[in-house]
Amino acid sequence: MQKNSITYLAQSRVLLVVLLFLVGCYNTQCQNSNHSSEITKSSTIKKETPMKLNSLTKEEQYVIINKGTERPFTGEYTDNFKKGTYICKQCNAPLYKSDSKFHSGCGWPSFDDEIKGAVKKTLDADGHRTEITCATCGGHLGHVFYGEGLTDKDTRHCVNSISMLFVEDAAKTSSAKAIFAGGCFWGVEYYFQNAKGVISTKVGYTGGFKENPTYKEVCSHSTGHIEAMEVTYDPSQTSYEELAKLFFEIHDPTQANGQGNDIGPQYLSVVFYLDDTQKATIEKLIGQLQLKGYKVATQLKKATKFWPAEEYHQQYYEKGGGTPYCHHRVSRF
Ligand SMILES: [Zn+2]
Repeated sequence: MQKNSITYLAQSRVLLVVLLFLVGCYNTQCQNSNHSSEITKSSTIKKETPMKLNSLTKEEQYVIINKGTERPFTGEYTDNFKKGTYICKQCNAPLYKSDSKFHSGCGWPSFDDEIKGAVKKTLDADGHRTEITCATCGGHLGHVFYGEGLTDKDTRHCVNSISMLFVEDAAKTSSAKAIFAGGCFWGVEYYFQNAKGVISTKVGYTGGFKENPTYKEVCSHSTGHIEAMEVTYDPSQTSYEELAKLFFEIHDPTQANGQGNDIGPQYLSVVFYLDDTQKATIEKLIGQLQLKGYKVATQLKKATKFWPAEEYHQQYYEKGGGTPYCHHRVSRF
């Protein structure tokens, strides 16, 4: 009996030692594996550039961190249409270009496109709306909506102003000018004022000899002037060639006596070049059109002083509504 008890005790001890040994091994393995995964993690983090986040105010935290929404029509950028870039308030990553911003009337800044890869889209927990966040830092931006038909891209990124910081383009000084004449200047300006990269347009008279000409004088053919449009553009957004192509496509460059029913010397098709590069560009484009069979009547003249027309002629269609009676766009290149 005693012998049996001793044997039993000895057996139990052996079992206990084996058990302890096994548990010990397991723990060591666990620790080892934990340790190694920690090493992997920290080495991955070290490889990435450490993200420097800007400190946020309570209001900013409410939206950017806690996914709140600022009240409509209260944000700083709802009606901002200056040229520039909207960057993330928290990490400075560029999110949207001003080119994709549009007026939606919803009370928050609206964009129909993001800078490629800058914005992450995630379906909300309720499965209805799609949240947009900064792809770099995860900061909350707002929501994205599709199918509203507001722009060609049919997309509206509805973004809280407070989630972003607007950086105006410094390239404001680097603007360039071009002068085109292609019939009634109202119609020419109509097609240029909303073209990509155009900063401003102005209609006026040029090519003649009379100083400070009036519309009446130009119509009476006593000034030598032609109805023309001066366009100021941003060369980083468009090029002289792009604008010249637009010019050749919105009027009929083969009509030699005016444009449409507007007949007379003040309605001729003329490009007034400001430098030799512009001249060479027009010669090249006229050559391309001639190869396609167009008998181009457009004249090429060195630019002289441009006299702005009376105020009521400026942005004529924008002010009064309607569309040009003798200009429409035809693809020619
Ligand atoms: Zn960010």
